[in-house]
Formats: sequence, structure tokens, C-alpha cells
Amino acid sequence: MFKRFRRLHISLAAKCQILFGTAIALIIGAALFVPWQRMEQLTAQLDRTAAGALAETVISRHIEEQRQSQERHIPAATQTADNGEPAPASADRSTLSRLVSIDGNQSKSLTKFEHGALAHFARSPDARWYFRYYERKDGTDGYRYAQPVFLTRQCTGCHNPAAPASAPVLRAVLEKPSPTTFPTEILARLPGALISVEMPSRIEENQLLLNRVFILVAGLIAGTLAIVAFYLITTRLILQPVRVLQETAEKVSKGDLNIRSDISTGDEFQQLSETFNTMLANLKQGSDQLRSINKGLDLKLGQLAESNLALYESNRLKSEFLANVSHELRTPLNSILGFADLLKDALSSGPESKSARYISNILHSARHLLELINDLLDLAKIEAGRMEIRSEPLSLPDLFEGLTNILKPLTESKRLTLAISIGSDVPILQSDPAKLQQVLYNFLSNAIKFSPPGSRIDLSATRDDPDHVRIALTDQGPGIESDKQQLIFEKFRQVDASVTRTHGGSGLGLAISKELTSLLGGSIGVRSAAGQGATFWILLPLKIQAADLDLRTRLVLT
Ligand code: ADP
Repeated sequence: MFKRFRRLHISLAAKCQILFGTAIALIIGAALFVPWQRMEQLTAQLDRTAAGALAETVISRHIEEQRQSQERHIPAATQTADNGEPAPASADRSTLSRLVSIDGNQSKSLTKFEHGALAHFARSPDARWYFRYYERKDGTDGYRYAQPVFLTRQCTGCHNPAAPASAPVLRAVLEKPSPTTFPTEILARLPGALISVEMPSRIEENQLLLNRVFILVAGLIAGTLAIVAFYLITTRLILQPVRVLQETAEKVSKGDLNIRSDISTGDEFQQLSETFNTMLANLKQGSDQLRSINKGLDLKLGQLAESNLALYESNRLKSEFLANVSHELRTPLNSILGFADLLKDALSSGPESKSARYISNILHSARHLLELINDLLDLAKIEAGRMEIRSEPLSLPDLFEGLTNILKPLTESKRLTLAISIGSDVPILQSDPAKLQQVLYNFLSNAIKFSPPGSRIDLSATRDDPDHVRIALTDQGPGIESDKQQLIFEKFRQVDASVTRTHGGSGLGLAISKELTSLLGGSIGVRSAAGQGATFWILLPLKIQAADLDLRTRLVLT
């Protein structure tokens, strides 16, 4: 309950006021309960003392009367004549008292109150009185009082102490108010007589009320004063410094790190404020440091961006230079090749001479040089962003057949079997046939180059998923070790990079294939193990999408 109250979303001031108010009300209530009770007891005691005094007087008077009548030899039978008869105890008619002897069949003459009193004494033998308040006919409070009278030695002259109460009386008394049975020793201790007094209550109802009002007013004044005192103490001593701290924290949360809390109470609040200020100073120092580091980083970022731009520019210039140079190299090389071909044809008609062999060598080297220059030119074009991608209908069976025809002289010279398979669900693609042909040409020329004579090469096309086709080329060559499989797609990378390698090549073919495949929106890869052949594959979208293209590439739709 207290935990739930602590979590209530109300201000600390309201919480303090509610808690202190409740505590003060409880403390003052508990403090006033005692005098309130005591006052009631004292007033009740007033009536009891008066009634008790009257009862004593009645007993003394009875004993005196009995003594005098014995002296005058009045017969004992008359001694009980006053029994059961209320006799005025004073001049005041409103006060009645009577002495009732219990040693006979007196139950019929007992009043209801006396019955009750006797039952009470029977149950509680130690009780010394019994009383009840009642409303008198004139509307005022009346007081009925009963006191047990135990027979003493001087009573034995007139009373029989052995039989304090006859059985029928006891039964009548005990059964009527409550049908409880009592042990005989309690029955034996019943009083020999009962004095009952009836008188107006001494307690002044108005006085009692006034006293109660006084107690209440005193409680209210004490409560108000305590609440005011608590209020002043909590607001001045606790809430004010808390508010100062709260305001400072709010300003800090809004970004003002220069603010400081100013509390000089000399207590824990001042310590808290000083700690808070130290924390703020550290925070400010940290944020200043961060700001200056950030400034430095911004500067470096600017420099990096500048050098990036410069790099990009120099790369573009390099690619442009390469493209131009390659172009310039290719033109004279083509004419050298042409004339060398003519010369070879002219010489080859005669017997093989040294010059014909030299010309063959010149042709081979020049072709290799041309291949290299062509590769460089392609790469430079891609890097310079000059490559154009065309999107047109592409039939894979036609493309495969064209490639087979181009490479027939090579496959035949090595007695290789080129098997082609195309899935029936492979549709006409929408892509760039020239680029795809270049990639597959590179795959095939590598496969022919690395395949052992008389082996088999498989070229297949299958539908990989609703949007892609997979083209794979498998050979039975030496294969590629797994740690080299990623390297061969980098520029100028070969598995056998030694000068004594058996196969020629620039190491650019697969790098260009990778770039071209990416331009077509596809991906490229190899699956191989050393000595077990290799499968090169590409995954192509059935339809080339402008969104898949490299930003530098232009898509031409035809
Ligand atoms: P290159 O012009 O040297 O063939 P590529 O980029 O086409 O350049 O190939 C890079 C290297 O990958 C080759 O030198 C070769 O080591 C390896 N390679 C390519 N294709 C095959 C293949 N079918 N079997 C074994 N190795 C291959």
C-alpha cells in the first residue's frame, strides 16, 4: 500500500502533505482517546461513589435499626418487614434505595434490574457493584446501582449464614436472565442481601458535551498547528532545495550546460548540489572535447572527400588514356597482322622456309597482343563508364550454335566434344546478346585451352527460378583449387602465374566476364576441385531491368 502510494504520479509536496496530515490526525486522535475515555470513567465514577455512599448508609441504618429493635425485644418476624419496600433514603423523593434479603423466596419481589444484578454477582463472585443508566420519566438520566451484602458475624443474630439463598430463588434468578448452570461453590458465595439504589445521574449531560467539545477543539488546534509547522518545515527545508535542483536539471536537459545549482543549506542538499555541479562541469568538459574532436573529424572528412574526388578523376583519366592508347595500338597492329597474313600466304606456296616460320611467329605474337589490347580496351571502357547495354530479344539456342561454329576449329584440333543442353522452360531472354556472347566465349576458350585432348565439354542452360536462367560450362580439365577460386575473377590473376606456365593468357578474361555479368544484372561463379574439372556458371535475369544496372551504364532498349 505504501509502495503503491510512493509510485503515485503526484508532486512530492502533495505526498508529504497527505502523509503528514494522516499521521498527525492519527497521533492526535490516539492522544485524545485517553483523556476522552478517562473523562467518561470519572463521570461514571461520580455516580458510583454517590450511590455507594448511599448504599453504605442504608446498611448502617439497617444494622442500627435491627440492633435497637432487638434491644426493645421486637419479634424477629417483623425484621424483614421493610424487605422489598423501597424506602426514601433522603428528603429527595427522586432517590430511592432498598435492602433486599435473599434468604427466602424473594424472587417475585425483585425488580428486573435487581434480577440482572443478582445474576451478575452469581456469575462474577468478585464483582462489588452493578449499575445501569436509564431514562427517567422527566427525560433526565437516571442511575440504578446495586451492591451485594455479604452476611457478617453480627448478622447471624437475625440471618442464617448457612443458607444464603433458597434453591427456588436461585433458579428463578439464574434461569431468567440466562439459563446457565453454575458450580455449587459459586452458588454458595451468593450475597445474603442486595442493596439497590435508584437516583438521578449526577452527570450533567451538557457538561459532558462541553468537555467533549473542549477535547475536540484542543485536538483540532493542535492538529492545525502541527500541520502548519510540518508544511513550513517541508516546504522551506526539503521542497525548496529539491525544486532548485529540479529546475537546474530541466535546464541541463534542454542543453544548457553552463547552468549551476545554487543551494547553500549546509546540509545534504548542499552536498548534492555541489556533486551535481561537479557532474555538470565534467559533462561540459566532455562535450567540449567531443565537439573539438568532431570538428577535426569534419575537417578530415572534407579532406578525404577531396582526395576521393581527385582519385576518381585520376582513375577516369587513366581509363580514358588506356582506352585511347589501346585504340591507337590496335589500328596499326591490325594492319601488321593483315600484311603478315598476306606474306605468309605468298610464302606458304613454296617449301617451308625459315622466313615462313618467322612470319608465323610474328602472327601468333601479334594476335596475342591484339587479344590483350582488346581485353584492355573492354576493361577501360567499363571503368570509364562508356559501356552501353542493349536490351533486345535473345535466343540462347541461336547464341550457343553461333559460339559452337566460331570455336569449331579449336575444338576439332583438340578432338573435344561440345555437348549443349537447354531446358524446355528457358524462354527467349530480354538482354544484351553481344555481352553474353563475350562472357560465354571467354568461358569456352578457357575450357578448350585447359581441357585434355579428346575430352568433353558441357554447355547447359536451365531455369533457376521464375526470373532467372543459369548457364553453366563444365570441362574435364585440371580444375581450380578452392583457395584460388575467388582470385581468378580479379584482374591479371592466373592460377599458374609463373613465367614457365604452359597456357598463355592475359588474366583479364574472367575479370571482364565478371564486370559484364554484373552489367547484365547477373552473378558469376565457379564450382571446382583440383584435378576434377571445373564448372563456370552465370545467373542471369530473364529480363534486364534498368534498376539492376550499374549507375555509370546506359541501358539502350531496342
Ligand atoms: P586467361 O586469359 O589467363 O585465361 P582468365 O581471366 O580467363 O585469364 O583466367 C584466369 C585464370 O583462371 C587462368 O589463367 C586459369 O589459371 C584459370 N582458369 C580459367 N578457366 C579455367 C578452366 N576452365 N580450368 C582451369 N583453370 C581455369
